[in-house]
Amino acid sequence: MSVTASPTAPAAITVPPLNLPAAFAELREELSAELLAVAASGMYVMGAKVTAFEEALRAYCGSRHALGLSSGTDALLVAMMALNIGPGDEVIVPTFTFFGTAGTVSRLGATPVFVDIEPDTFNIDIAQLAARITPRTRAVIPVHLYGQLADMDALLAVTRAKRIPVIEDACQAIGATERVDGGRMAGCFGEFASLSFYPTKNLGAMGDAGALLCNDDALHETARLLRTHGENPRYYHRLIGGNFRLDAIQAAILTIKLRRLEAWTAARRERASLYNRLFGEAQLASAGVRTPVERRGRHTYHQYVIRAPRRDDLVRHLAARGIGSGVYYPLPLHLQDCFANLGYKAGQFPVAEQAAREVLALPMYPELTEPQQRAVVDAIRDFYRA
Ligand SMILES: *Cc1c(COP(=O)(O)O)cnc(C)c1O
Repeated sequence: MSVTASPTAPAAITVPPLNLPAAFAELREELSAELLAVAASGMYVMGAKVTAFEEALRAYCGSRHALGLSSGTDALLVAMMALNIGPGDEVIVPTFTFFGTAGTVSRLGATPVFVDIEPDTFNIDIAQLAARITPRTRAVIPVHLYGQLADMDALLAVTRAKRIPVIEDACQAIGATERVDGGRMAGCFGEFASLSFYPTKNLGAMGDAGALLCNDDALHETARLLRTHGENPRYYHRLIGGNFRLDAIQAAILTIKLRRLEAWTAARRERASLYNRLFGEAQLASAGVRTPVERRGRHTYHQYVIRAPRRDDLVRHLAARGIGSGVYYPLPLHLQDCFANLGYKAGQFPVAEQAAREVLALPMYPELTEPQQRAVVDAIRDFYRA
């Protein structure tokens, strides 16, 4: 079939799921100079760039300490290694999260204990968490999913009474605060918090990178040793750690980008408001479409996630129109093959299982334009009207 466009027809608007080259273009001059400076320095792993980034990150997040690491997954691993978690220990995690939250527990020989989520925020359900605590519970890992804080007041009321350490999985939530206009930031509630700088995250490196925030001096010092094979001084090993180091080039990139993060978060929140308004105008609630619920403080919209009936058909409809979208996550962790030995059953965590069928993340990034957002919502409206 051949199509002849009339000269006045507007070009079809495509909307990529992300636009990392556009984000780079904005910072090209500043980054180029830094990248060349690192290249010329010959100091490629750790060093002054990493120390400077850690200080900037600590000051931004308001935590006691910040440790630059190889990834967000490694941050979770190092936190649990510092807490000496291993075989026979249990760690409570939400079943609806990225795999790394629970995979790291199993890698240490401990047992992840899964808990269902709240239906509106997709974050861990604190009443169910409290019910799963046993004498073997050695930590809990709330996840601030999509960029919104878990219910940390309720969680800490439970864990403090039982002296159970808390590791916040803040990999999606750098900059989330307990009030819309400020207050404590993600990473200031627990003993530890993991951050990820995977390129698609709100603060993204140009490769893998992460950080571990810590609010306890002794635990931070242990984590710092674990990052470089537990050595102090060099080649004298006090603990069995690993290679969890951060590259200088990533630290240099992150230091520059961190200065822009507040502006980018504001841009994400503006785009979320526009989506909310456009969905309201499109009157999709009667079709069962639900927009995100902001319940706790400043949501940083790492993802703008709707609930959508017939989700998988909608994904295909959007793709045919050149609109990217993502499903985070299609299968809760308690139903993953690799955890079959833990004995969980389908139907056990109905809120997470329904979320896995319905969630859809729409394009969300500071470079997203209003015409692109209108194209996204128009396409979704057309799908439910058809
Ligand atoms: C991205 C992410 C991680 C892991 O981070 P990496 O840097 O990719 O290892 C862990 N937990 C959550 C919730 C994440 O979104």
